[in-house]
Amino acid sequence: MATTHALAGVALAALVASEQAGVALPAGFVGGLFPDLDLYVGHRKTLHFPVYYWPLALAGGVLVAIGTGPATVGLACFLLAAALHSTMDAFGGGLELRPWEATSERAVYNHYTGRWHRPRR
Ligand SMILES: [Zn+2]
Repeated sequence: MATTHALAGVALAALVASEQAGVALPAGFVGGLFPDLDLYVGHRKTLHFPVYYWPLALAGGVLVAIGTGPATVGLACFLLAAALHSTMDAFGGGLELRPWEATSERAVYNHYTGRWHRPRR
């Protein structure tokens, strides 16, 4: 799943910042992986923000519009990929170790509502 998130981040970065591919694609890759760094500490809660990454990504886009450069493009692509990752997790399985058993009703934590999204599977 981590590779799917990383490649989704790269694909999204390629769509929105293809002219800055040298920084956009690695930033999308890292941003796509970043939320899962919480694998052993509050997985899908500590670094997953299905709501809050989106306004940050929008702010990153505004920064790019104001001053396009490697740092702003990289930051925006990182945040966009992290937002996509956190949202995608709600559409997958739950937190169970064997997802085919579908025993968990927790997909990703929504810090805005203070509740877990249920897995859509
Ligand atoms: Zn995740």
